[in-house]
Amino acid sequence: MSQPLVPQTAKDLAWARENPSFNVTAMSWFLHGGADMLERRENVEKVLAADPIFSKKNSFPEEILYSLAFHTLKFTNFFLNIRMQAIHEPRRGEGIPANTTALRLMDGLRISKRLIILRDEIPWDVEDYRIALSLVDARLPITLHYGGFIPVILSQGNTQQIRKWIIPAERHAIIGCYAQTELGHGSNVAGLETTATYNSVREQFVIHSPSLTAAKWWIGGLGVLSTHAVVQCPSGPLVSTAPGINLECRTYRTHIEMPSTKSFCSLQSTEDHKPLPGITIGDIGPKAYGGFSSIDNGFVLFDYVRIPRENMLMKFAKVTKEGKYIKPVHDKLSYGSMVTLRVGMINDAGWELGRAVTVATRYCTVRRQFNAPADSSPSPGTLEAQVISYSAVRARLFPLIALSYALIIASRTVTEMFEIMSAQLANEETDLLGQVHALTCGLKSWGTRKSAEGIEECRKAMGGHGFSAFSGISEMFANYIPTNTYEGDNFVLTQQTARFLLKELQKASTGTETLTDHSNYIQRSIKTTGPIDLSRASLLDPHTQLILFEVRATRVTIDLAEQVQAGREWPGLNMECWNASSAHTEYIVLRCFVERVKELETDSVVSSLDKRDVAGLKRALKKLCDLYAIYTLSSGLTSFLSTQTLLPENVQSVNQHLRDLLNETAADAVPVTDAFAFSDYYLNSALGRYDGQSYQGLWEAAQAEPANTEQWRRKAYEVGSLGTDYLEVSTVQSSQCEIIKPILKRGENEELIKLAKL
Ligand SMILES: Cc1cc2nc3c(=O)[nH]c(=O)nc-3n(C[C@H](O)[C@H](O)[C@H](O)COP(=O)(O)OP(=O)(O)OC[C@H]3O[C@@H](n4cnc5c(N)ncnc54)[C@H](O)[C@@H]3O)c2cc1C
Repeated sequence: MSQPLVPQTAKDLAWARENPSFNVTAMSWFLHGGADMLERRENVEKVLAADPIFSKKNSFPEEILYSLAFHTLKFTNFFLNIRMQAIHEPRRGEGIPANTTALRLMDGLRISKRLIILRDEIPWDVEDYRIALSLVDARLPITLHYGGFIPVILSQGNTQQIRKWIIPAERHAIIGCYAQTELGHGSNVAGLETTATYNSVREQFVIHSPSLTAAKWWIGGLGVLSTHAVVQCPSGPLVSTAPGINLECRTYRTHIEMPSTKSFCSLQSTEDHKPLPGITIGDIGPKAYGGFSSIDNGFVLFDYVRIPRENMLMKFAKVTKEGKYIKPVHDKLSYGSMVTLRVGMINDAGWELGRAVTVATRYCTVRRQFNAPADSSPSPGTLEAQVISYSAVRARLFPLIALSYALIIASRTVTEMFEIMSAQLANEETDLLGQVHALTCGLKSWGTRKSAEGIEECRKAMGGHGFSAFSGISEMFANYIPTNTYEGDNFVLTQQTARFLLKELQKASTGTETLTDHSNYIQRSIKTTGPIDLSRASLLDPHTQLILFEVRATRVTIDLAEQVQAGREWPGLNMECWNASSAHTEYIVLRCFVERVKELETDSVVSSLDKRDVAGLKRALKKLCDLYAIYTLSSGLTSFLSTQTLLPENVQSVNQHLRDLLNETAADAVPVTDAFAFSDYYLNSALGRYDGQSYQGLWEAAQAEPANTEQWRRKAYEVGSLGTDYLEVSTVQSSQCEIIKPILKRGENEELIKLAKL
């Protein structure tokens, strides 16, 4: 179709882009860390978009769709067969399947393979490859190899171990995962049951799963692909039925909960990919909302599997030949690898939310409902109102734009701290570890929750079409939502931040020790009493904003401390911990944002821009920072009022500022989301197309649905041949396959139709 179906929508979006108050390209450079990073992204994307393996279109063979739709009975067998097919080149038709778990998993494997081949062929360097992995936008069986397996070896392995395993891992001669969680325990690591019992005669560990609940479960990449795993075991048993000498658990309980081991373990043969003796391995099956369907979260049981002593990752904790456990110099050294993953998740929280809000902002700009107010369109009176002009749509979307910017900017600060901390850890210095651990626990919990809620809000803000899978939001949500759980359940992690804050509060109260850079506000605000006087201060003054946020955070922590002192048990204080951690995190995020805006001129990317562009960027970022601050104040009023940081008479002013900021953001809403520089390929959304042709996008996507082909519809009516190379359907009786025809033609229906003269 050469002519757009609804030309007005393209005009609407073009109009929204006509007069941005800042240089959009410069903002993209700022967000992405430079023009070269964007160029890299575009180059990598060109390769991906041209390769059918990475197509995000729903173009899979109609035979397969049809068969799966009618033969769920065979689905289980099919799922098992995936394992065998995946080892060899799977036989598939053209196109990429998109909406069944097993096919998506096969896709995940194919995409992983193609990426690995391209990395070597092109070749892509580490950064390009990271970009490629993020652009394909699928949770892949290979993801945890890079995100869990390799980083843990690098951070917890000694020099020999790194030398031995990293090159094979980087060449994919071995593929691994990180296996910690078990069927019976996840959050409580000390409750893990898998044992690593040391046998000093053979100098081996014996890894064993003593019960069903000891099965490692949920492990990304384990279900099909991984040949190896880093396995987390809390300890050897005190009494073991297996031959071996136990670790001296009791001796070390005073130092850490238990001597735990992270061991490098072979799971499946690198020759024929069959499970090795003593290993029972498999996929845990479909996941909520169809999310994570292209990744093989798996299980494994160990039956007295022997591994050499040298397979225990021994950078920090060690076991000698004689079986003596040597504890790490610092108990917290093992936190390092967890922090790595969380730092990445904070960054993702911003970009994923940015993506959802880009789609929603574009679509709400082209969507029109009801009569337009006179000043809301280029041709007033002739068109209905753009839904983006409604205050409730603005109130839901614009703060999310500000939040995504805030998260991206805060993640940059955390990444810088993390890099300093990593360099320190390499020398076994742990000065920053406690602070960064608490910071990332708080940011990960708050950021992933806010982002997930925001993605769903974007869907709702788009009305009915938001519920179409072609909006791209539902799949994004399904894949994003488990971030609230993995790498530490959010409500468990916030307790770590809360404990840190209580310690800092204690230090501030006694005045004996120096607080960390990110918590020394407690020292200042502990002395303030009563509400912050806003009579002579502007809510748009960053200094005032920071004072409000730090006083509120301190008082929420004081409240938690008082509850503890009053004798309330820790398990009863989960929500108080959440509140303290969130108030602290909201302050940190604001501080990062305020500092970036203040020092914008010194930013390495921005410093090369001309002065007018820098000033424009600064104004736009300041506005978004204000919106983040005022929206957070407004949505957290209960906490600001109950801690008496604000007074009820201030509420009007907060809300008025929010209304003003929402209106002021409107003119730049599309440009600030354009600045994320998401391509149509990446967004994969009919509604969020750059050209504004949302209706055409929806129309075309619907036309391509296999269920709209004549052949498919015929088969739905009277099931005929089932030919497919994916399913063996011979055991399914044809009567089980027929669906519509038997409904219409059953019993005396034909007579009834005649009688009714239909
Ligand atoms: C998609 C996905 C991928 C994963 N990938 C991996 C992987 O690759 N490797 C791996 O090892 N693991 C993986 N996991 C497991 C994940 O890390 C755990 O599920 C997570 O840490 C939560 O632990 P849990 O399942 O034991 O939850 P539980 O601890 O059982 O949580 C259940 C509920 O109890 C609450 N709760 C539990 N303890 C407390 C407490 N002390 N205080 C207050 N509330 C509490 C939680 O908030 C939650 O509401 C993955 C999980 C998912 C969903």
